[in-house]
Amino acid sequence: MILTLFGPAGAGKGTQASQLGKRFDLTHLSTGDLLRAERRLGTALGRKADEIINRGELVGDGVVRELVKKETARILATGKGIIYDGYPRNLNQLRDLEGILTELNCDLDLGISLDINDERLLERLSARRVCKNCHRVFNLIFDPPKRKGICDTCGAQLFQRNDDYPDAIAKRLVEYRRQTEPMLDDLRQRGKLKSAYADQSITEVRENLIQMIRDWQDGVSVS
Ligand code: AMP
Repeated sequence: MILTLFGPAGAGKGTQASQLGKRFDLTHLSTGDLLRAERRLGTALGRKADEIINRGELVGDGVVRELVKKETARILATGKGIIYDGYPRNLNQLRDLEGILTELNCDLDLGISLDINDERLLERLSARRVCKNCHRVFNLIFDPPKRKGICDTCGAQLFQRNDDYPDAIAKRLVEYRRQTEPMLDDLRQRGKLKSAYADQSITEVRENLIQMIRDWQDGVSVS
């Protein structure tokens, strides 16, 4: 099964993709994580992406396509399915992804968009903290660490992402409306998109998504 989660920054894509991945035995592939890993490694690509990410803009389609292609081929060779998070983000990337999957004899089964209002996103993103060492994500409002500023998993310090400050957050929302929403319309028209209400607890959103995926699986096995 090949799924992808959509939603503006702060909608909970990463959290939900990780949990759904475990539930349905899918590998979680986040393009944001892939780009941040390149940045940490200090590769030429990572250095180029750094400023773009900090400004809240989108990295070039071709660069992301190459990263996704390599990772997708690697994961499918293990026999597992994939849950994408943060990809595709515009119509061009959607075509790229469908092309990559066709070459690998697969198809994008279903996209789910996480819907939530802008005010709540700002609140969530400003409260997001990430572990410097293991990259676990916390939220000071609904998933705080046990000790202030310290990761529960590995004890390292938490930090705030450069693109989780107001200017960059605003830019990311504009990009989402301008580039991602037209792509969602395209998928919706082809019957490949479901929407989920994301302004609920992590557990409530997860259970709702699990049910949607099961309904989709039941529909496929009946037809
Ligand atoms: P995320 O972790 O999904 O919020 O992504 C963080 C940042 O990485 C984005 O604001 C973009 O700058 C970059 N990025 C992640 N995924 C993509 C993508 N599919 N296309 C272009 N840029 C991306």
